[in-house]
Amino acid sequence: KLFNEVQELKGNIRVYCRVRPFLPGQDGKTTAVDYIGENGEILITNPFKQGKDGCRMFKFNKVFKTHASQAEVFSDIQPLIRSVLDGFNVCIFAYGQTGSGKTYTMSGPGTSKEDWGVNYRALNDLFDISLSRRNAFSYEVEVQMVEIYNEQVRDLLSNNVAQKRLGIWSTSQPNGLVVPDASLHPVKSTSDVLDLMEIGQTNRAVGSTALNERSSRSHSILTVHVRGLDLKNGSTSRGCLHLIDLAGSERVERSEAIGDRLREAQYINKSLSALGDVIFALAQKSAHVPYRNSKLTQVLQSSLGGQAKTLMFVQINPDTESYSETMSTLKFAERVS
Ligand code: ADP
Ligand code: MG
Repeated sequence: KLFNEVQELKGNIRVYCRVRPFLPGQDGKTTAVDYIGENGEILITNPFKQGKDGCRMFKFNKVFKTHASQAEVFSDIQPLIRSVLDGFNVCIFAYGQTGSGKTYTMSGPGTSKEDWGVNYRALNDLFDISLSRRNAFSYEVEVQMVEIYNEQVRDLLSNNVAQKRLGIWSTSQPNGLVVPDASLHPVKSTSDVLDLMEIGQTNRAVGSTALNERSSRSHSILTVHVRGLDLKNGSTSRGCLHLIDLAGSERVERSEAIGDRLREAQYINKSLSALGDVIFALAQKSAHVPYRNSKLTQVLQSSLGGQAKTLMFVQINPDTESYSETMSTLKFAERVS
């Protein structure tokens, strides 16, 4: 059902909003999220303004309640995952300020099954479905994992540290994918994937003093390539799933940031606005889609637009201190939805 719904949407773009609950120790805090409706409404209150003027309503395809479980969040996107096996390209993003739950949604807070985020659940589903279709189809699954930091693409699954920085671009893929020449790893099971992700996380830390600091300022992209063979008629299909944990969208005060920090902030700003511009152009069915403006949009070019499907998780913090970041996050999402 979702599959058809997705097809009907202009530009095949869906936006889901997820509100992080207060964390242990944040009990006394007040929330800027006034109301979450059943049909994708979310009402935000300005802590500095009383009355009607201080309220703003946004509407998305869906807004999850703060207590929504990982399984609940995933159940809605299962049909998208299935479409990858049918040869579609799908991009799933998590967008939001640092601390809003992007990594929680995409990877999960731990490796136990109920903690699993979209990444593991998606791969797990791919294997389950391909197994159930094994009499009619044979599938091969390969994964890549790259990081984009300061407009440089690094292979997170390469054993060779020196080769991790990718400068070469390949456009020679059979289905026209523009992918950095990152190493491809065949996977047969969810546990293969879990192992690779662990390597990726470890490699992400190389060259940075604090992993969390670094990971909040880089985009990480897990790409899953699926090749299908129809055992009856010999026809083949190729689908691609990109799972993207974006860099934190928070604005950095010019006066506060100097040197490396300022440079990072500028690169993040540039790539997130390039992403917004691309999705906006696609939603408007604009003749010109500005893919070339960032590495992020270049890497994802063939999976954004055309027949491809895009899902953006918009992550927000519940507290009043985050009000202005929350508003800018929701406005970004509103523009592309
Ligand atoms: P981000 O990746 O956007 O910086 P994280 O995913 O690291 O944010 O989340 C920040 C903190 O909030 C973590 O401690 C995480 O476990 C917690 N958290 C995020 N989302 C949820 C949620 N839906 N339920 C419970 N805890 C959450
Ligand atoms: Mg994170």
